[in-house]
Amino acid sequence: MSNANGAVGGALGYLDSHFKEFTRMLGDLVRIPSMSARGFPPEEVQRSAEATAEVLRRAGVENVGIITIPGGHPYVYGDWLKRPGAPTILLYGHHDVQPPGRPEKWLSPAFEPTERRGRLYGRGTADDKGGVMAHVAAVAAYLASARSLPCNVKFLVEGEEEIGSGHLGRFLAKHRQMMAADFIVLSDTGNFATGIPALTYQLRGICQVDVEVQCLRQPVHSGAWGGPVADAVRILCGLIAGLEKADGSLGVPGLYRKVARPGAKQLARIRALPWSEARFRREAGMLPGTTLGGERRFSVYERLWTRPALTVIALEARPLHGSSNQIIEAARARLSLRTVPEMDAKEAGRLLVRRLTSRPPRGAKVTARVTGSAPWWSTDPEGPAFEAARLALRAGFGKEAAMIGCGGTIGFVEPFARLLKGAPCLLTGVADPACNAHSENESLHLGDWLKAMRAAVHLYDELSRVPVRPRR
Ligand SMILES: [Zn+2]
Repeated sequence: MSNANGAVGGALGYLDSHFKEFTRMLGDLVRIPSMSARGFPPEEVQRSAEATAEVLRRAGVENVGIITIPGGHPYVYGDWLKRPGAPTILLYGHHDVQPPGRPEKWLSPAFEPTERRGRLYGRGTADDKGGVMAHVAAVAAYLASARSLPCNVKFLVEGEEEIGSGHLGRFLAKHRQMMAADFIVLSDTGNFATGIPALTYQLRGICQVDVEVQCLRQPVHSGAWGGPVADAVRILCGLIAGLEKADGSLGVPGLYRKVARPGAKQLARIRALPWSEARFRREAGMLPGTTLGGERRFSVYERLWTRPALTVIALEARPLHGSSNQIIEAARARLSLRTVPEMDAKEAGRLLVRRLTSRPPRGAKVTARVTGSAPWWSTDPEGPAFEAARLALRAGFGKEAAMIGCGGTIGFVEPFARLLKGAPCLLTGVADPACNAHSENESLHLGDWLKAMRAAVHLYDELSRVPVRPRR
């Protein structure tokens, strides 16, 4: 039906003929180093908000403005609401980026967009400036070719997603009316594989715990004292190593009490996904000879999406450079625990703290505390809005959409879902497993990016025919 629709055809044609221009526009956004993390210049995030606003205006989006909330990085808002009676889609993305990491590891500079073998390299190409631009392009294509959209759209482009969307709850509460919509399209997740689109229906939560082991008042000579005097670094390493049991599960008493088993439908969805260990290993960059971890009695996607996981994201002792024969007084680590449906992230953190501190090895002083958390999110991906999204993705990519979970955490999804009670949340995006988001050499597959734009054109059209509930 949608292919027979002239507006869709016109918009698709416009995307094809203006793709180079959209790529240039994305490149201009990528040139702005809009790191939201502390220690980086906030003026760049402001500049990126202004550039994003300009891109929206050029696309024909109306009421474009930058909205700030005290202490937060700027949001960009814009809408096109000229279809009274038609549904309204809230499109979310973010214009801030992760810090570039180690400059010497980038094959081309992080903030100089560079095309190589069909991919555009640069910080933010995939996460998430490319995601935002895919919708901007789809809207621009409709407005340029048909002077109209099949439904109403609102854009919200956040400036601090990469540091945890700390002000989003307050922002949404303050601008509740402005954000009212029938569907939420959150464009910050990824495709299942290059060329295979995906709809994400579940995200893990996260909890962060900082732990410190202290044994001495000051460092001492490791020859004069080593042996009888405890080494805080070895004790900390032992504590962390002890968190994994032989079966790959986490040795934290009580941690699994609330972990829900996926239902039959979800298990069927997971089994339907093509699985290749070789591809998985390649995409993760695992070295030959290394083996997969986690709970071996579950499939890899179950481990990734439905089971908790622990990562040591920081370890502080003495750097190699400048080290000497000392027993140092203390060592610290930051543990990141991914949580899954029915776990409470804060409670999981408290259980981890108790496990680390309850019986300190050799009487060491072990302190630990929860330093942050965000909830998991899950939705039942059934019903007409999800059906519309599947049709749109199939039309855009020429491939059936994979129904996937995501091992990561996106703090903003739950506040949106809560605000627009019951409005379907559709999670898609332009990242693919090869995109290296958050790492060096981030890139966007340009062929898939065009397909994502085409899918967005179909999505607005498909959603315009989905019956909506009266808004509360
Ligand atoms: Zn992102």
